[in-house]
Amino acid sequence: MATETVAPAGETPGYVQPTVDVPVLQRLLDGRYAEVRELVRTNLAANASILEEAETLDRAAFRERVKEVVVELAATGQTGMGFPEEYGGGGDIGASVAAFETLGFGDLSVLVKVGVQFGLFGGAILQLGTKAHHDAYLRDLITGRLMGCFAMSESGHGSNVQRLGTVATYDPTTEEFVVHTPDDSARKDYIGNAAEHAEVGIVFAQLVTGDDPKSRGVHAFVVPLRRDGALLPGIRIEDDGAKMGLNGVDNGRIWFHRVRIPRANLLNQFADVTVDGTYTSKIANPDRRFFTMLGTLVQGRVCVGGAAINASKVAIAIAVKYAARRRQFEASAPPAEDLLLDYGLHQRRLLPLLARTYALHFAQEVVAGDLHEVFSGAGHPEGEDAQTRRELEARAAGTKALGTWHATETIQECREACGGAGYLAVNRFAALKADTDVFTTFEGDNHVLLQLVAKGLLTDYASEFSDLDQFGMVRFVTGLAVETVIERTSVHKLVTRIKDVLPGGDRWDQEAGLFDPDYQLAMLRFREEHVLAGVARRLKRGIDDGLNPGEVFSRVQDHVIHAASAHVERLVLEAFVAKVAAVEPGDTRVALGLLCDLHALATIEADRAWFMEHGRLSVARSKAISREVNALCRKLRPLAVDLVDALGVPPEMLRSPDLVGG
Ligand SMILES: Cc1cc2nc3c(=O)[nH]c(=O)nc-3n(C[C@H](O)[C@H](O)[C@H](O)COP(=O)(O)OP(=O)(O)OC[C@H]3O[C@@H](n4cnc5c(N)ncnc54)[C@H](O)[C@@H]3O)c2cc1C
Repeated sequence: MATETVAPAGETPGYVQPTVDVPVLQRLLDGRYAEVRELVRTNLAANASILEEAETLDRAAFRERVKEVVVELAATGQTGMGFPEEYGGGGDIGASVAAFETLGFGDLSVLVKVGVQFGLFGGAILQLGTKAHHDAYLRDLITGRLMGCFAMSESGHGSNVQRLGTVATYDPTTEEFVVHTPDDSARKDYIGNAAEHAEVGIVFAQLVTGDDPKSRGVHAFVVPLRRDGALLPGIRIEDDGAKMGLNGVDNGRIWFHRVRIPRANLLNQFADVTVDGTYTSKIANPDRRFFTMLGTLVQGRVCVGGAAINASKVAIAIAVKYAARRRQFEASAPPAEDLLLDYGLHQRRLLPLLARTYALHFAQEVVAGDLHEVFSGAGHPEGEDAQTRRELEARAAGTKALGTWHATETIQECREACGGAGYLAVNRFAALKADTDVFTTFEGDNHVLLQLVAKGLLTDYASEFSDLDQFGMVRFVTGLAVETVIERTSVHKLVTRIKDVLPGGDRWDQEAGLFDPDYQLAMLRFREEHVLAGVARRLKRGIDDGLNPGEVFSRVQDHVIHAASAHVERLVLEAFVAKVAAVEPGDTRVALGLLCDLHALATIEADRAWFMEHGRLSVARSKAISREVNALCRKLRPLAVDLVDALGVPPEMLRSPDLVGG
């Protein structure tokens, strides 16, 4: 893309190295919300001492310090941007996502506490509650005067939240719900803000009313937990204790012993219970109702993905800057020792991760933009934009999964790339590793999320199937509609389409230029559709063989995950290619083009066995891709420091004085 011709091994003839204008590129990355990101950077720098305090304060003191910082941030307006202006918020969802993502450069206990208080607790009141709840709580929670928690997960169920055990039974004689934990597996667990600070909880429980002892499904209730710091009657809370990271957040377990709350404490945006105990909802199907409720909370998932990508930027910035200063061994011009970043291996370890960080940044920009559009619009989750919402949910799930895994991989590689120095806490990797680790699990376990993505792909986001559980989905996919799925994912048709856009006819995948974005995207699209069609076929075969649908799905799960990640990989590359194409011709575009090519070719290279198995990559071409990945790394090497500077991590957040220099 950035380069003009395919060069075999060395540098491209006619290639002129671009100059990176760091402020210009940072402005491009900051995008529409540059001012918001600048406000957060300023606040991060003002509170930079928290990074050290995470190491020096004991757990109790650190928790209090984190709370203090969160309340201070609230006073700047940074944490309330997504709430309606009439309650003191900023009325801009996109701005609130940008603010949260940027907080990912700093201490992540602060980030997670902000997420719990304003995203989960505040988000549930806003999205699941109605005006009475907004009037009662929003103003105080936006300022941090009222601290709350979001109590969904239980020890027994974290991913399968439809099976939660906590029960809320309506008592018409007193017009109250009685919230109860029937056994220890139904205790709320891992709940952020619960151990110390939350005065109220949004508690998810099975709603029971009337003579029917059967649950109407999981609903959210506002349950007071503490007054003036003391637990209220019927509430038992235990501290979850020390964690692998995020020790500035007070996670805890909650049990309810027949706790009575007013009927009005049901967050009744999607369902209500009348005074006499009659249950009403505009959404008749209980599964669909539940998934609609959960869907309104998608912002949390978008935010966690964005924060993880920004945490990766901290790691890659430190490692690249260090590699541009650190010398080890005489190699090219003895007796001088070479810089780490001049070694091909070091380039190979860091620069594809840098390219992928850029790719994920732009993919995240798309999903955050979609979120803003959908949630700022007048549409209703069950209305005309239902399909758009499902697509957004799938995209959010997939980007969160890839973004958080990328953080885990990048932080580890960058820690190793800094050698022993990387192990010292002052150089940030200790906290980054420990604190981001769980991002792959909370706001939805990544493997569970990718299964949701695959479900959307297999059912084409059809509204009738949105409420299907795994059994239902298998039955659907393997039922009458299976031919449709296979037809829709027809690889033959896809290849014909690709042949139309790429030169080379039947040999499109042998003759197209490796730097042609249409070729790169065609490869990822081919893989996506081929793998998805394979899943549909295997599901059908299993059912035809008389196996139980659950068993069939279980056997195909590895394939399901591959289909989902192949899909999201294609979306990520598409976002990057589109971004590069939208930049004015010039050096910035050339530099981004190099990164985009590196990301695309490294992605194909990483799965080259699959492409070769499926006849899309010859041995010679596979080797050529590896050569080009190396060549792109060499081209990017002189730009690398500028490219990490443009990521916009505040210097105070890098710390690492001996690694990054003054
Ligand atoms: C630090 C921290 C903070 C948290 N904060 C909150 C909070 O504030 N509020 C809240 O409600 N919750 C919170 N959680 C809970 C979190 O959301 C859950 O831990 C998460 O949803 C995963 O659930 P689980 O722990 O039950 O894991 P499980 O669902 O038991 O998953 C365990 C493993 O099994 C795999 N697995 C599960 N189902 C399947 C399947 N169908 N097929 C194949 N593999 C499967 C998963 O991929 C995973 O690897 C927090 C957790 C932590 C650790």
